[in-house]
Amino acid sequence: MRIVVAKTAGFCMGVRRAVDMVLDASNLSSDPIFTYGPLIHNPQVLKMLEEKKVFRIDDIPEKGTGIVLIRAHGVPPEDEKALKDAGFTVMNATCPRVISVQVIIHKYAKKGYSTIIIGDEKHPEVVGLLGYAEEKGHTITTMEQLCALPEFETAVVVAQTTQDTAFYDEIKQWCKMNAPHYRIFDTICGSTEKRQTEIRELAKANDAVIVVGGKQSGNTRRLAQIASGTGKPAAHIEDVSQIDYGQLSKARSVAITAGASTPNWIINDAYVQIERNLQHQHPARIFLLLIRDFLLKTNIMAAAGAGFLTYACSKLQGIAQDLNHALIAMLYVLSMQILNNLFTIKSDKYNHPGRALFYKKNRTYLWILAVLSGIAGLYLSFITGPLSFFILLVMSLLGLSYNLKIIPLTAKKGQAARIKDIPGSKTILITLAWGTVTCLLPAVANQSNLLSVAIVCLFAMGLVFARTAFFDILAIQGDRITGKETLPILLGEKTSFKIIQYILIADMCMILLTFFIDVLVKKAFFLAFIPLIMVLLIRFFERDSHISGVYREFVIEFSFLVTGLIATVV
Ligand code: SF4
Repeated sequence: MRIVVAKTAGFCMGVRRAVDMVLDASNLSSDPIFTYGPLIHNPQVLKMLEEKKVFRIDDIPEKGTGIVLIRAHGVPPEDEKALKDAGFTVMNATCPRVISVQVIIHKYAKKGYSTIIIGDEKHPEVVGLLGYAEEKGHTITTMEQLCALPEFETAVVVAQTTQDTAFYDEIKQWCKMNAPHYRIFDTICGSTEKRQTEIRELAKANDAVIVVGGKQSGNTRRLAQIASGTGKPAAHIEDVSQIDYGQLSKARSVAITAGASTPNWIINDAYVQIERNLQHQHPARIFLLLIRDFLLKTNIMAAAGAGFLTYACSKLQGIAQDLNHALIAMLYVLSMQILNNLFTIKSDKYNHPGRALFYKKNRTYLWILAVLSGIAGLYLSFITGPLSFFILLVMSLLGLSYNLKIIPLTAKKGQAARIKDIPGSKTILITLAWGTVTCLLPAVANQSNLLSVAIVCLFAMGLVFARTAFFDILAIQGDRITGKETLPILLGEKTSFKIIQYILIADMCMILLTFFIDVLVKKAFFLAFIPLIMVLLIRFFERDSHISGVYREFVIEFSFLVTGLIATVV
C-alpha cells in the first residue's frame, strides 16, 4: 500500500497569511478580536479560533471596539469603510491575489466597463469583487448564463480565484469567438491551478483519492469533483472519522489532497489513520508502524538518539567507553521530553493529534516513567562523580521549570512568565541540554582536553539544533495557534531552513578541519557524513511534501542512531 500526499495540499499563501495575522493579533493584543464572516471554510479551524476567543461578526454594528480582520476573500469597499466608521481597527487580510483582481475590476469600472465575474454570486470573494464593479457587475456560473447576458460595448472578464481552470478556458474560448472586444484576465490563482493539475495527475496514478477539507469550502469541493471526474473512487472528508475504509479496501495506492483552507494537522492525522487502517492485510507492516509510532510518541527514539550521540562524542574525544554516560543522556532526554509532552498536550492537539491522545490516555504511566527515568539518571550521575551530579541536577531543574510560571516580569498582562515564553528558548535550551549530557558530562568525568571538548560539544549541538529547529518547522501551525514563539515563527520558515543548513554545513567543515589539527581521534572525519546526510535530508524534505510528518520525524531521529553506528569505526 502506497500513500501519497499532494505537494499542494493544505493552506495556500493567502489563507496562511490570514490565519497567521489573526493568531498573531490574538497572541499579542488584549483587544477583542473578530473576523468579519468565517475566517476560512474549515470547521476545525473555526472551532480553534473560538477556543482562542476570536469571534465572528456577520453584520456590521453601528458602534464597535476591537480589531476586525477582513478574511482572505476580501470585502466590498463599502464594508471596509463601514467597519472603520463603526470604530473598529481593521486588519485587512485580503489575499494579495484577490486584491489584484479587485484592482483590475475597479480600474476598468471607472472607465465605464462592465464586469463579468465567473463565480457564484453568493461566494464571499465574488461579493467583494462585485463591490468594485460600480453597479456594472454580472456573475455567471454556466455557459448558458454567459450566453444569456447582453453583449456589452466594453467589458472585462475575470474569474473568482479558485474557479475550475478547464471551465474558465471554455469561457475564454467562447469570448474570443463571440465577443472578441472583451478584455479577458487570467485571474485563477496559480495555487488553485497547481492543486487542480496535481490532483488530476495523482488520481490517474493512484487507485483512490481522499480530499480533506471543509464541506463548505468551494475549492475543496472542486478538488473532490475533479478527482471523481477521473473515474477513480474519491471521498471528500472533513476529518478522519469520515473515512470509509471499506471503499478503500481494494486500493493499492491512495492519494491524499486537501483544500486551501485545510490545516496541516488534519492532513497529517488523515495520513496516519489511513496508513494504519488500510494495512490490515499486512500484519507485519502494521506491527512495524505501531512500533515506529510507539518509539516516537514515548520519546524512546529520541532518548536512544541521545545515547548514541553520547557514544559518538566520547569516541571522537578518545574517551574510554563508559555505558553510564550514554545511559545518563538517555534517561535525562527521556524524562525531559516526556514531561514536555505532558505539559504541551494542548498544542500537540494541533501538531500531533495522535500523540496528544496517547498522552491524555496514558498520562499516569507517562508521569511515572518521566519521574523514574529522571531519578535513575540523577542516581547514575551521582555514582559517576559529584560534579556530574551537580551539572545534571541543574539541567534537570532547568528542564522542570521550563513550563512553570517562574519568571516574575512579563510584558504580557502583568503575569509571571515561563522560560518557554522567551522567544526561541525551546530550540536553544534543548540544544544546550543535549550538548551538556551527550558531551560535557563524559568530558568532565574524564578530564578531557578543553579544545576537543569545545569542538565535540559544538558538533553535537549543531546536530541537535538542526533536529529541534526542523521539528519546530513541522509544528509551526500548531505552535502559532497556542502562541508559542519558536525560532521558525520568529524568523520564518525559509530563514529557519537556511540557518539549519548553514549550521550543519559549518558542523561538517569543522569536523573535516580537525583532520589537520590533530585534536580528535584520527578517523573523526567519518562523522562529517552525519551533518551532510542531514543537510541533504532536510533540503529534500523542504522541497518534497509527498512525505508525511511522521516519516520525516522518524528519519531525522534515526540519523542520531546512525551517528552512533558510524562512531564505532572511528
Ligand atoms: S487560493 Fe490563491 S487567491 Fe485564494 S486565498 Fe489562496 S492564494 Fe489567495
